[in-house]
Amino acid sequence: MTEPTPAASSAPSTSWMERARCSAVDSAVFFPECPTGPANDRSPYAAARAVCGRCPVTAECLDYALRNHERYGMWGGTTPAQRRTMKRGEPRPKEAS
Ligand code: SF4
Repeated sequence: MTEPTPAASSAPSTSWMERARCSAVDSAVFFPECPTGPANDRSPYAAARAVCGRCPVTAECLDYALRNHERYGMWGGTTPAQRRTMKRGEPRPKEAS
């Protein structure tokens, strides 16, 4: 058995990803701003928000996105604009679903 490296032992666990509700969903649903996403949809994050709303690891996912400065896509049920607001310490803005 090998000892974990310092980097490995201090890195936040990503085991929560194994329980992600989105693992069986086309990733384009979560990145509507990308060329393959539903960019012309009036509510481009609606489908992703519905999946996130039933996900058991929403908090872990959002924490990961904030720690890693994820600029695109829906993470933890939040849009990029919502995460930018949260990082500024402001309340999470409501958006149309
Ligand atoms: S909260 Fe949403 S994006 Fe994050 S793991 Fe769950 S389903 Fe996927």
